[in-house]
Parts: sequence; structure tokens; C-alpha cells
Amino acid sequence: MLMPKPNQDVLAKRDYLVTELRRIVADSEAVIDDKDDLRAFECDGLSAYRQLPMIAVLPETVEEISEILTFCAAEGVNVVPRGAGTSLSGGALPLADGVLLGLGKFNKILEIDYENRCMVVQPGVTNLAITDAVKADGFYYAPDPSSQIACTIGGNIAENSGGVHCLKYGLTTNNVLGIEMVTMAGEVIRLGGKHLDAEGYDLLGVITGSEGLLGVITEVTVKILATPEHVSAQLIGFPSSEQAGDCVGKIIGAGIIPAGMEMMDRYAIHAAEEFCQAGYPLDVEALLIVELDGPKVEIEHYSKKIDEIAAACGATVSRTSQNEAERMAFWAGRKAAFPAVGRISPDYMCMDGTIPRSQLPKVLKRMGELSEQYGLRVANVFHAGDGNLHPLILFDANIPGELERCEEFGADILKLCVEVGGVLTGEHGVGIEKRDLMGEMFSEEDLKQQQRLKCAFDPDGRLNPGKVFPILHRCAELGKMHVHNGELPFPDIPRF
Ligand SMILES: Cc1cc2nc3c(=O)[nH]c(=O)nc-3n(C[C@H](O)[C@H](O)[C@H](O)COP(=O)(O)OP(=O)(O)OC[C@H]3O[C@@H](n4cnc5c(N)ncnc54)[C@H](O)[C@@H]3O)c2cc1C
Repeated sequence: MLMPKPNQDVLAKRDYLVTELRRIVADSEAVIDDKDDLRAFECDGLSAYRQLPMIAVLPETVEEISEILTFCAAEGVNVVPRGAGTSLSGGALPLADGVLLGLGKFNKILEIDYENRCMVVQPGVTNLAITDAVKADGFYYAPDPSSQIACTIGGNIAENSGGVHCLKYGLTTNNVLGIEMVTMAGEVIRLGGKHLDAEGYDLLGVITGSEGLLGVITEVTVKILATPEHVSAQLIGFPSSEQAGDCVGKIIGAGIIPAGMEMMDRYAIHAAEEFCQAGYPLDVEALLIVELDGPKVEIEHYSKKIDEIAAACGATVSRTSQNEAERMAFWAGRKAAFPAVGRISPDYMCMDGTIPRSQLPKVLKRMGELSEQYGLRVANVFHAGDGNLHPLILFDANIPGELERCEEFGADILKLCVEVGGVLTGEHGVGIEKRDLMGEMFSEEDLKQQQRLKCAFDPDGRLNPGKVFPILHRCAELGKMHVHNGELPFPDIPRF
């Protein structure tokens, strides 16, 4: 994985940068320059790639962030924002010549506003802590990534994260009302608020999913919803993944939008069951977990309809949770599926393509064929209702060549997603993982237009460089690029 070459001039003034950053932050220990201490930040959830940052800074106030960014911009230093470091696409991977800006100390809930059905929180608050703060009063925050116990709301916005309940309630972008953000120039700006859509460009929409490339989010206003009257989860088992995939499309096609509809294949079912005894049937090849919420009578009606559809698709097992403890057990298996799969293979790489639901049977079949072709096992556990695939490719990094084989296999899966009318990422972001595949999905002109938007926020490309875009362009170059005698302008810009 090629990253921009470290800038030797920046590295040469590291001691000066440490001294000046210590002047900016109130707590001098919040500037970390010791190699052993920096180790904690060397990777995110995509742990196959590691890099120590030059310096890590853990500010406590918006003013400190603004000063740090102004200082780094003036000194020509790159900055990588970081929440909890659970990104699965390498979005928070540090740079050898960069400052890693940790938002962990921004962990306060600032306001709970039931009248406006919203909360104002700092970006380092974990996703689950938002729901926990209002649960007793009958409210919750809907997007629920499986990593919700650890990941931060700032990271969720940067990645436009999803989760089990996004099928019915939308992704992060549909549940965030406003943010405060600091630009690389140190300016503090506000987008959105407690009100509904403002006039003008939807800049909040632009920032959501911008992967730390446009600004540092310092405050977030999220929607909260009333806890549904009743909730029940149904386990439906099938003799093949293709049949389960077919059933997903048919349920949605029948006009039913479950609160969540997840799918696990044999590897994932067995790994999760062994890990946390969720009560899954072990004699099936694929399992759907379908959650329904709302008035009891509505749930019963849809549950019956779903059973009929599933039976027509060849389902062999259907079981509905009888109480809250059983429902939670069904979900515990799904939510622990990633770590559970980690127990059956020394390493795994989690992919994240999204396809039109109707293509699920075809893509699942083709993935099985690719698995045989590459000689690597693949476990599937994913947001089936959204068509958001999470194939976990199992490999052993200690075996020479296996990581590379896994990367090629992963790339083929993502290309397949694009081929059937889908996209490279559903919720984990592009980061470094899918950066070099962006050309499969976007034309050169598409990518340039996206980079022009980046230039409007960060003209010198200081925020999180090396991520998302397969080729770095200088902003001036994007205005007009004239190639004379085949000589590429700005030859000094790193091109991956
Ligand atoms: C076991 C496991 C399960 C997961 N399940 C899901 C899932 O179901 N759904 C899902 O969507 N994701 C999932 N993820 C991925 C990950 O948890 C999400 O992408 C999450 O939103 C990242 O949040 P974070 O706080 O860890 O951010 P980080 O990993 O620290 O950063 C992610 C990106 O956000 C940027 N960033 C972070 N904070 C800020 C900020 N304040 N301002 C600007 N940019 C910022 C970083 O620069 C980086 O580009 C899972 C990860 C793991 C390890």
C-alpha cells in the first residue's frame, strides 16, 4: 500500500513542532512524542497496515484544535483526525510525517433536548453512550454499528456509519441534524442545528462520510427516537445462502421494511454460536435475523407474512424470540460475529461492498466460486436488507503471499459489486483500503470534481492525505491541467 512519501523537512523540525504544540495545549502530556507511547495509535481496525505517527496530540478544547490546525497549516504539517480507531478501511492510519489528532477527550454529552427530540454531544462520545443517556426515558439513537460500544459519533459521521437498524431508520447521515467543525485554516464553522433542513448547499451532507478529509468535527447534534412499543426478532434458516438472499429481496418487495434484516452464513453462524451461545440453528447454511418493531398487532401480521415468504424460498427453520432476553441473545451472536470469526482464523479482512438487493443470490454464489479460486475461506455476516455485504476473508498473514492473495480476492469482490450495479463501500468508508479501486467506480472527471470540493475546504491537502483519492492532485492543477509533450505537470505530487 503506497502512501505519500514523508516530507523530510517536516521530520527535521519534529522537536520544534513538539515544543510549539506543548505551548498550545493546556496539558503538556497531551502531546505524545515517545515511540512506545505512540504505538497505541499505529493502526486502526484495518490492522494489516501500521504506521507510527510523528506526533500525537490529544486536545481538550475547540480553541486548542483551532490553534493546532492553524499552526500545522502554517508549518506545512499534515493532520489525521482520530476517534476510537475502529475504522475498518484505514481512515485513521497515521502518517510518518503527520500529527495524529485524537478526539478522545471530547467525551461529554452537552445537552438532552426531548422537546426537539435531539441531543448535543462532543465527537468523542461513543455511539452506545448516546442511547444509554436517554434509554431510561424511552428514547434511543438509531444507527447502531456493531462497534457501537467503542466507536465515536465523530468517527460515525466521518464514515457515515450504518448498523442493523439503518434499514428502517437510515444511516448516520439521516440521523445527524448539525455539527460544529474546525477547518484546516482554524476556522470554526457550524452546519445545521436543531432545526430541519436549512437553505443553501447541503454541506452537512458533504461532511457526513468525508473521512476526516474536510475538517475536524467538534460538536454533534443527533436525532433521537422514541423506543418502539414492541420489538421481536425472528431467526430464519435456509439450506443455501442464495435462497436466503432471494428471501431478502422478496420480503422488501412485498412492502415490508423490517427494523433490521441481517444475514450470516455457516462459518459465521458456527463461530458466533461457539463464542456466545446465541441459540442459532447449526444445521443450516444461512441464517436471516429479521427484527420487527411497532405495535404488537402489526408485528404479528408481518411476522406471519415473512414466514410465508421464507417458506416459499425454501426456509427450513423459523423461530421468533419469546422474550427480551432471547431477542438480545439473537443479536449478541450477530454483534459478536466479527470477533467470533477472529477466533477461527489468525487474520481476516472485512470487505464492505453494497449491491442492489436483487443481486444477492448471484453475488453470494460468485463469491463462493472466488473463494475456491483463491483458496481462501470467506465468512459472510452482513446487513442483508441494505444489500451491504461484509465478506470476511480468512487468511494467515504469517504465510508469505496470503495477505496479497486476500487483497486480490477482496478487490475482485468489490469489482463484482460495482459490476452488478452496486458501490465500493456501504458504511466502512474508502480510506486506504479501497482507495486504489475508486477508478473502478468513478471516472477521472468524477474524481477531479470530488477533489475540487476537497480543495474548497483544505486547499493544501493537509487533512488526512493519502486516503480516499487514488491520485493526489494539487488544487491549482484541478482548475486546469495542461499536459505538454506528455510531461505531467506538478511532477512532485505523489501519485499512487
Ligand atoms: C468489530 C467492528 C465492527 C464494526 N461494525 C460496523 C458496523 O456495523 N457499521 C459500520 O458502519 N461500521 C462498523 N465498523 C467500523 C467502525 O467502527 C466505524 O467506521 C466507526 O464509525 C469508526 O469510528 P471511530 O470513532 O473508531 O473512528 P476512527 O476509526 O478513529 O476514524 C475513522 C475516520 O473518521 C475520521 N474521524 C474520526 N473522528 C473525527 C472527527 N471528530 N472529525 C473528523 N474526522 C474524524 C478519521 O480521520 C478516519 O478517517 C466496525 C468496526 C469494528 C472494529
